[in-house]
Amino acid sequence: MFNWMRQRLCPDLAIDLGTANTLVIVQGEGIVLNEPSVVALQKGTRRVMGRGAAVGKLAKQMLGRTPENITAVRPLKDGVITDFELCEAMLRYFIEKASRHVRGLRPRVVIAVPGGITPVEKRAVFNSAERAGAGRVYLIEESRAAGIGAGLPISEPIASMVCDIGGGTSDVAILSLGEIVVSESVRVAGDEFDEAIVEYMKQHFSLKIGTQTAEQIKLRLGSAYPLEQELTSEVRGLDTISGVPRKAVVTSEEVREGLKPTLEAIVGCAKTVIERCKPELVADIVDTGIVLTGGGALLRGIDRLFHEQLGIPVRVADEPLNTVARGAAICLEHLSEWQDRFDTGERAA
Ligand code: ADP
Ligand code: MG
Repeated sequence: MFNWMRQRLCPDLAIDLGTANTLVIVQGEGIVLNEPSVVALQKGTRRVMGRGAAVGKLAKQMLGRTPENITAVRPLKDGVITDFELCEAMLRYFIEKASRHVRGLRPRVVIAVPGGITPVEKRAVFNSAERAGAGRVYLIEESRAAGIGAGLPISEPIASMVCDIGGGTSDVAILSLGEIVVSESVRVAGDEFDEAIVEYMKQHFSLKIGTQTAEQIKLRLGSAYPLEQELTSEVRGLDTISGVPRKAVVTSEEVREGLKPTLEAIVGCAKTVIERCKPELVADIVDTGIVLTGGGALLRGIDRLFHEQLGIPVRVADEPLNTVARGAAICLEHLSEWQDRFDTGERAA
């Protein structure tokens, strides 16, 4: 009864604090916020621009387009918190925006954080969430949330494997009995795909483009495996020799070639995890396979590449961009049973 009333009065929050996107789920309402993890700042002042207006979507549009006096920053770019103060400002903005309608009680908040963050960074996330109005804060590793969100039987004595390909990092983990048995993280993911495209266009087309344009190309025609119908797209950029704007036509084969080394690094990370795993668990994985989550899992043909390289079954999670948030939301529902699986601050100090 108490729980029911509490939920009505003050719904709890689940947050996926990603390097590229932050998602917030309000218990009982689903995803209420889904925005880029970007903050725009006035240079020199450290003031977050025009309060509210320049965090998230708007701030992302500013990346690479800012005038002299403004900078747009991603506080978690490589999976580590590069700027604590900004991370706090951003988290605070998102929590306040998501819980606008919640007054009085302080919501409990489950936050999925990148696997590699340090105790100091964890502390910063706790403090930021508390200052932003959270009651009790529970941290959970992204990989675990991804496994739960993808519907894997992670609590059972059988190995489950997930590979989350986000913006800044790719995180691979094998879970069993509710614990992470082996995990590995590389700072190679969606951002690196974009940078590889920038580099490719420079090398092979003498065309200078920005990372946002590169991301558009990736979404439009990026792939990890030959496509049944290869695609082409027009790209605008700056000719690196003449220095004037120019168009070029790029094909999906070319983009794939540009992405190859980056993809190899991610597959390599998964191979390392399998190698480091106990034989019994490897035997499970041969049957149960690997689930891909995160935005990178949407790259065309990435499942086929993983299958070819690892020789195990591969599945892309449903709505891979939301998997971690969904997993965190499931954790909210089981807070009391799963208490000991969360980091609640005491141990993170
Ligand atoms: P994070 O958890 O680090 O915030 P996300 O899981 O939100 O990252 O994934 C963001 C990344 O996914 C970005 O690099 C984005 O370009 C990429 N992405 C999103 N959609 C697609 C798609 N359809 N194909 C390829 N990459 C995609
Ligand atoms: Mg993520």
